Amino acid sequence: MKIYNTLSKRKEDFVPLEPGKVRMYVCGPTVYNLIHIGNARPMIVFDTVRRYLEYKGYEVNYVSNFTDVDDKIIKKSVEEGIPAGEVAERYIAECRKDMADMNVKPATTHPLATQEIPGMLDMISTLVEKGYAYAAEDGTVYYRTRNFKGYGKLSGKNIDDLQAGHRDIQVTGELKEDPLDFVLWKPKKEGEPYWDSPWCKGRPGWHIECSVMAKKYLGEEIDIHAGGEDLIFPHHENEIAQSEAANGKPFARYWMHNAFLNIDNKKMSKSLGNFFTVREIAERYDLQVLRFFMLSAHYRSPLNFSADLMEAAKNGLERILTAAENLKRLSGSAAEGDMSAAERELYAQTDRFVGKFEASMEDDFNTADAVSAVFELVKFCNTNASAANSKAYLDALSARLAQLCDVLGLLTDREEEILDEDIEKLIAERQAARKARNFARADEIRDQLAAMGILLKDTREGVTWKRA
Ligand code: AMP
Ligand code: ZN
Repeated sequence: MKIYNTLSKRKEDFVPLEPGKVRMYVCGPTVYNLIHIGNARPMIVFDTVRRYLEYKGYEVNYVSNFTDVDDKIIKKSVEEGIPAGEVAERYIAECRKDMADMNVKPATTHPLATQEIPGMLDMISTLVEKGYAYAAEDGTVYYRTRNFKGYGKLSGKNIDDLQAGHRDIQVTGELKEDPLDFVLWKPKKEGEPYWDSPWCKGRPGWHIECSVMAKKYLGEEIDIHAGGEDLIFPHHENEIAQSEAANGKPFARYWMHNAFLNIDNKKMSKSLGNFFTVREIAERYDLQVLRFFMLSAHYRSPLNFSADLMEAAKNGLERILTAAENLKRLSGSAAEGDMSAAERELYAQTDRFVGKFEASMEDDFNTADAVSAVFELVKFCNTNASAANSKAYLDALSARLAQLCDVLGLLTDREEEILDEDIEKLIAERQAARKARNFARADEIRDQLAAMGILLKDTREGVTWKRA
C-alpha cells in the first residue's frame, strides 16, 4: 500500500511501526459553530482511509480531537452570554450528529483539549527544561523555534526566509526572543477560561494540544498524522517541533493532507463567508450523497462544490443503491440451494472488480478509481442477475457489493440506513436532554429505544448502542 507522505513529498510504502496495528491522529475541528462541508472533507476522507486499513485487517487506533478552548469559542460565548464550555459542548454534540449522518465512525478516542491540560503542562515543562521553551515576563511561554534543527522539514519552508517575512510584520510589545517563536501557553484575559500553571494563570496554545493528545492516546511515535492542507504550516510544523524536541523521537511517519473543498474555485471558509454547513446540505440531500460526492475525487485534488456535481453524485449513488435493492428483491423469491457451476464461474468474474477496487485504494487511496470499480460491479450485477438465479449466488453478489460500499462508508441497505440514522438522532437528543438536565426526557428516549429493541450503554467515550 502506498501513501503520499507530505514529509518526503512522494508516495511511500506503508509500513506500520507495529505489525498489524495503525496509530492514526486526525486534527479535529474547533467547535464554535456548525461544521461546514469543507470541514467534512477531512472527516470523510480519513474515515475512508481508516475503513480501508480495517478492511485490510489492521487494528486502527484512530484519535481525533475537539479543540474546545480557543479565541473563536470565547468570542461566541461573549456574544451569547453563556460560558465557553457550553458553546463547545453544544457544537461537539452537533458535530457528532453530522458525523453520524455522514456515516463517519466515531474515533477510538475523541479527546477534548480542556481535559488534557496536565499533559500540556508536563510537555511545556519538559520543553523549558530542555531549553526549547522559555517564559517571558508576562508569563507567556514561547517555543524557541530556532533551537529545533528540523524546523521547516514538513512545509519545506526555510527558516531564514521565514525570519525575513516575520521582520516586516513583527508585532511590537511582544516579549519574544525571536519573531519566529510561537506560543505554548498564554496568560488569561478578563473573563476567559483559565488554568493554573507554573508560569501564569492561562490557557494552552493550539499547537501543543495535538502534540499532547497524540502522545497520550497513541504514544510518542505514531504512524499517520492527518488533516487539511492548511494545517501543514504552521500547525503541523509546530507539532513536529514540540513533539520531537520533547520526546527525542521522530513523531509521525506519514503525514497526509487533504486538498481544499472550493466553491466558485475559491477556498470554502468561515472567514470568507462562502460556505454551506453540513446541516444545510442535509435539508436537501441524504448525507450519503455528500459523502459519495467527496469520494468521487482524489483527496489530494482540489474539489469544487456545485449543485450540478451534487446532482450527479445523487444519481450515481442511486444507481448503486438500486442495484443493491434489485439483488435483494430477487433473492427474496429465489430458489434455495448451492450455486450452479455456471453461477460459480460468473461469481469468480467479479474478483476483477474487487482487484481493481483494492489496487485503486492501495495507490494512495484513489477513491475516484475505487468508485469506478464499484460501478463496474454494479453493471455486472445488473446484467448477470435475474429471477432464474439461486439465492446463494444473488446473496454472494449482494455481499460483495455491500463490502466494497462499506469500505467507502456507503450504506447499501436503505432500511437499515434510516433506522441507524434515527437511532443516532435519538441518542444525540438524549445527550442534549441530559446536558440540559432534562432527565425525564432523557429517560423517555431511553425507554422509547428499548421498546424498539435498542440497548444503550454509557461509556467514558460516549454512548454506544446495540440491537437486542
Ligand atoms: P478548523 O475547524 O478550521 O480547524 O478545521 C478543521 C479541519 O477542516 C482541518 O483539518 C482543516 O484543514 C479542514 N478544512 C477547513 N476548511 C476546509 C476546506 N474548505 N476544504 C477542506 N478541508 C477544510
Ligand atoms: Zn492538530
